[in-house]
Amino acid sequence: MPVSNSLKDFKSPATIRERDPRHVLQEVYGYPAFRGRQEEVVRHVVRGGDALVLFPTGAGKSICYQIPALCRDGLAIVISPLISLMRDQVAALRALGVDAVAINSAMTPDEMRSTRQDLGNGKIKLLYVTPERVVTEGFRSTIGWQKVSLIAIDEAHCVSSWGHDFRPEYRGLASLPEMFPGVPRLALTATADEHTREDILRVLRLDQASVFITSFDRPNISYTIAEREKPKQQLLDFLKRHEGDSGIVYCLSRRKVDETAEMLNDEGIRALPYHAGMAPEEKNSNQDAFLNEEGLCLVATVAFGMGVDKPNVRYVAHTDIPGSVEAYYQETGRAGRDGLPSAAFMMYGMADVVQRRRMIDEGNSPDEIKRVERSKLNALLAICETAGCRRSALLGHFGEKHPGKCGNCDTCREPVDSWNATDAAIVALAAAYRTSERFGTGHLIDVITGKPSDRVKRFRHDELKVFGQGRGHSPGTWQSVFRQLLSLGYIYVDHDAFGAIKLEADAAAVFKRDRTLMFRRDRPHRTSKAARLRNPARDGLDPAAHETFERLRKLRLEIAREAGLAPYMVFNDATLVAMATTIPRDMSEMASIPGLGTVKLQKYGEQFLEALRDIF
Ligand code: ADP
Ligand code: ZN
Repeated sequence: MPVSNSLKDFKSPATIRERDPRHVLQEVYGYPAFRGRQEEVVRHVVRGGDALVLFPTGAGKSICYQIPALCRDGLAIVISPLISLMRDQVAALRALGVDAVAINSAMTPDEMRSTRQDLGNGKIKLLYVTPERVVTEGFRSTIGWQKVSLIAIDEAHCVSSWGHDFRPEYRGLASLPEMFPGVPRLALTATADEHTREDILRVLRLDQASVFITSFDRPNISYTIAEREKPKQQLLDFLKRHEGDSGIVYCLSRRKVDETAEMLNDEGIRALPYHAGMAPEEKNSNQDAFLNEEGLCLVATVAFGMGVDKPNVRYVAHTDIPGSVEAYYQETGRAGRDGLPSAAFMMYGMADVVQRRRMIDEGNSPDEIKRVERSKLNALLAICETAGCRRSALLGHFGEKHPGKCGNCDTCREPVDSWNATDAAIVALAAAYRTSERFGTGHLIDVITGKPSDRVKRFRHDELKVFGQGRGHSPGTWQSVFRQLLSLGYIYVDHDAFGAIKLEADAAAVFKRDRTLMFRRDRPHRTSKAARLRNPARDGLDPAAHETFERLRKLRLEIAREAGLAPYMVFNDATLVAMATTIPRDMSEMASIPGLGTVKLQKYGEQFLEALRDIF
């Protein structure tokens, strides 16, 4: 729904270099066609319009400003919040033969001098800088007389205090229109909620900008959410399906990160930890290993992730429930940027829901924000407990309609039963009520299932009418009943009372049988032999192509090591899959593989052809 720009914003045609965006896409990137709304954005910016681009991760936002930068005269300024992000983008562009540089505080004086020189020579097409630097006087003098072709503001949601990535220095970007009058600006982000969008437009003064938004669905990601039963076994079963792949395992605490990484290594899965409690050198070296190696599992807290652009992250696992649907979607969204099949797997249970609640309640946010955080957690819990399509529920949370039956989530692949849990819910609520709302689920379940524990006897809860009334269901089922009551807002966990379950006003309606509660029936975890062999990214490949893919992957790693690049900067997995399935015979056939622009064809084409000839 682009809003039309006022005419004054468009540059006269004489100032536009005659470079066709489609031609640049093929020649530089080796891609035959634009995706989704990329071309609209590119043409709009090439013409000199402002834009706000809201595409999900992996949709290809970089091209939206890089191609206009190559088509327009002058130097493009790209504002990026993290030095690691800049470094990767610059390296990837250089691998394509594009003159790009970054200026940041991590550079030595020598590097700074030579970068200034390159800038002075007018050779550079893209310059990456941090938001704090771009607004300084010094910056103007660094770029000197050069004409600025456009300004791209990446990760633009950082201007909004509403989101979780707020960076105050982004606020300073409000002065860009005065500093660079008439220069087209585009803001890009993968965060789409209404609040953030309004903040970006307002704070960055993009009132003339066209807004380009696409569906936030990530069809190549499969979603699986499971109750935590045998956490170690469940995680291992999931990871065994991903042997040889790179992925991230998120844990709630630093301690759990360390323990999980150790456990995985013991089990023969190469894993490295990452959390804010580690020394910076170790953190950086683990992050670099993750970017540069293949088949590595990074076990991390949420401290890891932003600015990690690795396109072939094949899985993201959560050992605990994240804090909100937003966080879950952002974290799982780090899988499958390259568009190939990838998996998201989450385990959750009452314990981590309770811990999350405690983190919110004990945090120092104002009450109003705490209320929002609680409701965001509940919204995620409701998605965990749904018997319907996960994708549809996730997108629904962001206001996007999806018909359901996606076929690529656990509930669609294997529909879950629901059962009439009204009677059970009444027993569960009664147990909390009759024990004066002073106990957590563990004790309540002992009471319900008639387990005469010391505590039960001490409080004489074995004399209550509800004692043993729920023997017909397993303790696991009762856990599930409490979780679903929590997600529906009939009960809450009171942290001031040490995690006691208390009733919400709505519980009265359940007692009175005004409501029928249909609950999801938990599915017990089982390790299937067939599942062990399946790997989503390579499912589509026959065994021969799979082997070819692995051989090409080895070659890619050797080349990357020698060049000091991350493997994906040589070629991404999608390019290797295309090579392994079409088997190009000569350079002209090689040129038609997506991902081989002029420079990469020249640099690596022969080597890969040779490798293919060796195989066939
Ligand atoms: P985003 O920033 O939106 O997360 P990127 O710009 O990193 O996404 O792009 C994700 C991946 O998609 C990259 O590997 C990129 O090369 C690839 N890509 C982008 N546009 C196209 C296209 N038109 N055709 C093929 N691949 C593309
Ligand atoms: Zn589904």
